[in-house]
Amino acid sequence: MATKLLLTFAICRLIVTVGLTLDPTELLLLGVDAQLSVDPTDVKAASLDFGLLTGAQPPLAVMHPASSQDVAQLVKAAYGSNFGFTVSARGHGHSINGQAQTANGVVVQMSGSIGGSGVASGRKPPYPRVWPQERFVDVWGGELWIDVLRSTLQHGLAPKSWTDYLYLSVGGTLSNAGISGQAFNHGPQISNVHELDVVTGKGELLTCSEEQNSEMFHAVLGGLGQFGIITRARISLEPAPQRVRWIRVLYSNFSTFTRDQEYLISLHEQPASQKFDYVEGFVIVDEGLINNWRSSFFSPHNPVKISSLEPNGGVLYCLEIAKNYHESTASTIDQEVESLLKKLNFIPASVFTTDMPYVDFLDRVHKAELKLRSKGLWEVPHPWLNLFVPKSKIADFDKGVFKGILGNKTSGPILIYPMNKNKWDHRSSAVTPDEDVFYLVALLRSALDNGEETHSLEYLTNQNRQILRFCDEAGITVKQYLPHYTTHQEWVDHFGNKWDRFYRLKMEFDPRHILASGQQIFTPTNMASWQ
Ligand code: FAD
Repeated sequence: MATKLLLTFAICRLIVTVGLTLDPTELLLLGVDAQLSVDPTDVKAASLDFGLLTGAQPPLAVMHPASSQDVAQLVKAAYGSNFGFTVSARGHGHSINGQAQTANGVVVQMSGSIGGSGVASGRKPPYPRVWPQERFVDVWGGELWIDVLRSTLQHGLAPKSWTDYLYLSVGGTLSNAGISGQAFNHGPQISNVHELDVVTGKGELLTCSEEQNSEMFHAVLGGLGQFGIITRARISLEPAPQRVRWIRVLYSNFSTFTRDQEYLISLHEQPASQKFDYVEGFVIVDEGLINNWRSSFFSPHNPVKISSLEPNGGVLYCLEIAKNYHESTASTIDQEVESLLKKLNFIPASVFTTDMPYVDFLDRVHKAELKLRSKGLWEVPHPWLNLFVPKSKIADFDKGVFKGILGNKTSGPILIYPMNKNKWDHRSSAVTPDEDVFYLVALLRSALDNGEETHSLEYLTNQNRQILRFCDEAGITVKQYLPHYTTHQEWVDHFGNKWDRFYRLKMEFDPRHILASGQQIFTPTNMASWQ
């Protein structure tokens, strides 16, 4: 009874706010009533994201779906209504700039229950279903990658391509790309999907793959949520390694560092024993950073003094590599690592090695999260900037940004690692630079005005603008990863030669621009422009 009242209230708000002429009982009849919530805890949680940059954008209601059909019914109602209301899927809300928010519509909370009275019916989305023979797993679009891992490990299997942090949703990372140190070898997560179930902006539920509705399949992967809500993904698996040898080595010379990174990713076609499984790296410009939350690895047993390593221009570079293995092959791991390290040109005394279970390696950032949470340093603004930089310009980027604009205080980790473009399917909606090799540069900063280790939000936001301006003026044609733009022209430029198809498919699959309006690519249509 209480749920019905809450729902009626939610729908009345929809009617008042957007002039929806739908009778509230019509939505009640859709059979999704138990999943719509206006509980203040739900609404508040759905109005914020990890970035904490946009200010609260409360939705009119939050839906907790238990099935693809629930999602389809809601979107169909939005599509069919006279004035329309927007619908935004929200994974775990780890966006930076409000991409999963919508102020004038319903947030579909795909990952678990975020608040109070949400899942009143007790129905839940389907659990992961592993197909051991076929080596794939079917998962709900809101499943967190950590839970995908847990369920596949029960069969001795695991996905091949990861993100550094596993408390992200499958639908959320597949809407971007999903990258980590395995991407040079296996491609991003969007290159490791066999099939999707998607609810389009018309409320139709489609299954798509290479063979079936293939245009939709490729559009949705990296599609920023614009064409449909992913309710199921079929993800490719491999036998799960048991342990990981995790190594960090330091460089003072940037071109030696990038030459070694590029050499390591060029080994992608080699047999497993002759390449690393993971290649990343990061930039160190201040003493604080080398022992910071992402590099706790070095401390407390191994504290490193940057000054003792004679950084070039005040900057050091850390190559981070890992090799997976099974306990049955433990006898050869030392030898394999040794022969790969021999080919690299790092500072000789700077090898830091550790060994751990595969799960602990994959889940490493979560440990750092728990530490930051305990100090109240997790829920702070995150003006992150993620860029794909073409290989031919990475040295210019180093000179201008790492050795220039950043100064000697970065306010958070700065990742840098190369990827092979041929591991990305050009038919997906993801956008990358036009070169065979490009780098991710991820400036993962926290804004805290404590005057010691971090800068203020205003300072970092201005610095991000300065970096983008510098790239523009220096002819460094970067592409934003997890892009954020506010004007139509910027989006057209971002997609470049993919824009025409992106636009055409948007008109086909979400003609009223109902979905993922928080990305600010298309403006939702109202009655006047729709009829
Ligand atoms: P949300 O933020 O909830 O949603 C993101 C977008 O996808 C929104 O537009 C939303 O509407 C849409 N969306 C969500 N679910 C669906 C769905 N089922 N169907 C269709 N559209 C949907 N990214 C990497 O690639 N590699 C990393 O190593 C990495 N590390 C990270 C570490 C941290 C601590 C954080 C906060 C983020 C990291 N990210 C990384 C970024 C992450 O991939 C994005 O934030 C991504 O959006 C996933 O987060 P989410 O599941 O919370 O999605």
